[in-house]
Amino acid sequence: MNIILLGPPGCGKGTQAKRLQDKFGLVQLSTGDMLRAAVKSGSEIGKKAKAIMDSGALVPDDVIIAMIDDRIGQQDCRNGAILDGFPRTVAQAEALDRMFAGKGLKLDRVIELVVDEAALVARITGRFSCKTCGAGYHDTFQRPKKDGVCDVCGGTEFIRRDDDKEETVKARLEAYRRQTAPILPYYKGKGLLSQVDGMAPIDEVTRQIEALVERR
Ligand code: ADP
Ligand code: ADP
Ligand code: ZN
Repeated sequence: MNIILLGPPGCGKGTQAKRLQDKFGLVQLSTGDMLRAAVKSGSEIGKKAKAIMDSGALVPDDVIIAMIDDRIGQQDCRNGAILDGFPRTVAQAEALDRMFAGKGLKLDRVIELVVDEAALVARITGRFSCKTCGAGYHDTFQRPKKDGVCDVCGGTEFIRRDDDKEETVKARLEAYRRQTAPILPYYKGKGLLSQVDGMAPIDEVTRQIEALVERR
């Protein structure tokens, strides 16, 4: 089973992808996480991507497509993947179709998390994650049960993303509107698109997504 989670920055893709991964035994493929790992490792891709990511623009299609092509063919993705943050342009969506066809894989569903734009800035600027295990949190909406201690691994160090600043968020939302939103009609035309209310509380969003995945 292969699923795409689609929606603007901060809509909840990463939060929900992690939950689906655990429940359905799928692998979360986050191009944002892959790029941040590349930046951290100092690789050529990372060096090129860093400035682009900090500006809020999209990394070139060829770089992203090669990254996913390489990853999705690996053993652990055989049971299926949850694509989180990819595709982000029509060219990437078309490349994904060719990749799936070439590997004998199928795209089962595209789930759009629909969120009011006004809520996104607060979601993004309050976002942080556990440095040790990557679990995601929010200053207001998803605090650890015990302040300063990760619910999942007990870690006590947390990080915030360099691009999660109000100035950058505007550029990221603009990139979403101009470059990513056009893939919604692309998938609607194929009968693959479903919408979920991303403004609902986190657990309720999870329930709605699970219902779609199980109904399939
Ligand atoms: P994305 O991966 O789409 O950028 P995230 O999953 O990282 O979004 O969520 C952005 C922030 O909003 C995180 O801090 C997360 O804890 C919080 N969040 C996610 N879903 C919800 C929700 N349904 N209601 C309130 N806050 C949420
Ligand atoms: P968010 O969770 O806020 O949606 P991501 O972690 O998915 O953000 O992406 C962070 C940044 O990485 C993007 O602003 C962009 O620069 C780059 N990026 C991630 N995925 C892609 C992609 N599929 N195509 C182009 N750029 C990407
Ligand atoms: Zn942790």
